[in-house]
Amino acid sequence: MKFADLHLHTYFSDGTFSPEELVGHGVRLGFAALSLTDHDSVEGCARMAEVCEASGITFIPGTELTAEHEDTELHILGYFVDTQNQKLLTEIARFQVVRQNRIREMVARLNELNMPLKAEAVFALANCKSPGRPHVARALVKAGLVANSDEAFRRFLKKNRPAWVPKAKISAFEAIELVHQAGGLAIMAHPGLNRTDDVIPALVDSSLDGLECFHTKHSTTMTGRYLEIADKFHLLVTGGSDCHGFSKGKPLIGRIKLPYEHVEKLFAAKKRADEKHSSPTPK
Ligand code: AMP
Ligand code: ZN
Ligand code: FE
Ligand code: FE
Repeated sequence: MKFADLHLHTYFSDGTFSPEELVGHGVRLGFAALSLTDHDSVEGCARMAEVCEASGITFIPGTELTAEHEDTELHILGYFVDTQNQKLLTEIARFQVVRQNRIREMVARLNELNMPLKAEAVFALANCKSPGRPHVARALVKAGLVANSDEAFRRFLKKNRPAWVPKAKISAFEAIELVHQAGGLAIMAHPGLNRTDDVIPALVDSSLDGLECFHTKHSTTMTGRYLEIADKFHLLVTGGSDCHGFSKGKPLIGRIKLPYEHVEKLFAAKKRADEKHSSPTPK
């Protein structure tokens, strides 16, 4: 049976693998399709596409955008986005600046707490345009200021802990529209992780295309519930491991094996969206 992992991160955001390493694991585990969904970045997609093609794996370019709806944070996965789309690239560049400024703010708070970390140390470790809290956690470990990333999140970086800084986010509606205008399909990531069930109907009204039903952090019961919700609202079904390499302990790739029928439905939906886009508007 063919299967896919459509939620993966590389070192172009807060994962530790290169696109090549990730595809290497994909080959080893027998995946027929992969997508790269780095946070606020599409930078790794070109390389990932190339290696996937050489390895006979179907590749779907993607990204994971941080958004909010009525104070609820949620993540929107954009699949099949045109990675050269000007508006998408402009907005992503803006999100990346927000991320970089947030790192400086978090470091300033840590300094106030007598944790002598430098923002430059975080940027050097992150070595990417989309730095996030996992990089701050790893920099704290590297500086010998905490024992491990878990401790860093628990003591300082988790929501409402003293070095946590809220991230300025776009609205979920804008995120969906941004993905759509770049030719992509917009999927709500890991609803069970963000506890965003209540938000689903509103996003369906604003053209959400699908729901990530299969995710490492979803229990079997949760997956069942989201499959029912997807069915009820006629949404596409996706799934992925959310592998960050060694950023959060062991690599998660291989934990989710999305049945390939869902990938075929995604391709069919992309085709329909393209046809709708290119058909002349009725007079
Ligand atoms: P950011 O985008 O900077 O807010 O960071 C989000 C990243 O941090 C995601 O990859 C999360 O999985 C990770 N993260 C969030 N909370 C925790 C936690 N308590 N422990 C470890 N990683 C976390
Ligand atoms: Zn991440
Ligand atoms: Fe996420
Ligand atoms: Fe993710």
